[in-house]
Amino acid sequence: MKRCKDRGGQNRGCRRRRKAEADRGCCLRRKTDTNCEIDGKQGINCKSKGTRTDDKSTKAFLDGDRTAELYRRAFMEIGDKTPLLKDCGVLCGKACCKGDKETGMRLFPKEETALKEVSTADGGKLCVCEGDCDRKTRPFGCRIFPLFPVLHDDGRISAELDMRGFRLCPLVENAQKVRFSKDFRKAVRKAGRILCRDEQIRAYIKEVSEEIEQTAKLCGISYIISKRK
Ligand code: SF4
Ligand code: SF4
Repeated sequence: MKRCKDRGGQNRGCRRRRKAEADRGCCLRRKTDTNCEIDGKQGINCKSKGTRTDDKSTKAFLDGDRTAELYRRAFMEIGDKTPLLKDCGVLCGKACCKGDKETGMRLFPKEETALKEVSTADGGKLCVCEGDCDRKTRPFGCRIFPLFPVLHDDGRISAELDMRGFRLCPLVENAQKVRFSKDFRKAVRKAGRILCRDEQIRAYIKEVSEEIEQTAKLCGISYIISKRK
C-alpha cells in the first residue's frame, strides 16, 4: 500500500487525504476499505470516484441512484424468504393479495415498481395490482408483510408485527401461536436498517412504527415478536 505524500501515513488511514477528498466534493463514503454506498463497489472500482456532490443536478442524480441501490440491497436481503417455512397463503386464500382497483400495497418513499400506481390523499403512492403480479417485481411492503422494521425511539430497528394487517392476516391475529421464520425476521430487520440510511424513508418508517404501536394499543395485543427465540 502507498504512503501519503503529506503525512507519511498509510493511505487508507490518512485523515488529510480524506479531508482533501471532502474538499473536492468527492464522496466521503468511498473509503478504500468499505463499499461505496452509491454503486456498492470498493473504493478503487467506485464509479462515483471524484464526482462533485455540490452540484445540484449531480446530487439529485446520485441521490436517486443511491436510493435505488438501497432498495436493491434491501430486496436482496429478503430474497425468497417468507414469513413461515411453508406457504402461508393456503391458510387464508392469499387474503393480502385480494386487492381491487382502489386498494393495494402502499409503496415506501421513492420506491419504484413496474406495477400500476395510484396516488393517495396524503401524497403517498399505492401499488394497485388486482391480486396478480410477477413475484420478482412486487413492492417492498409485499415482501415483508406481515412484519415491519419498527424504528424505536432509541434508534433500534426490530422486525415486529405489522398491526395494519390485523383482521386481514391470520398470522397477525394469531401471532402468539405462530412461529415466524427466524431468517425472515432477521432479513426484515436488516432490510429496514439498510433503508433507514435514507432520511425520507427513515421518516416514513418512523411514522408507520408509531401507527403500528397505536394500533396494537387499540387492539390490546402486543406487536413485539423480536424477543422470541
Ligand atoms: S394474509 Fe397473511 S397469512 Fe395470508 S398470505 Fe398474506 S401474509 Fe400470508
Ligand atoms: S403486488 Fe403481488 S404480492 Fe403484492 S399484493 Fe399484489 S399480488 Fe400480492
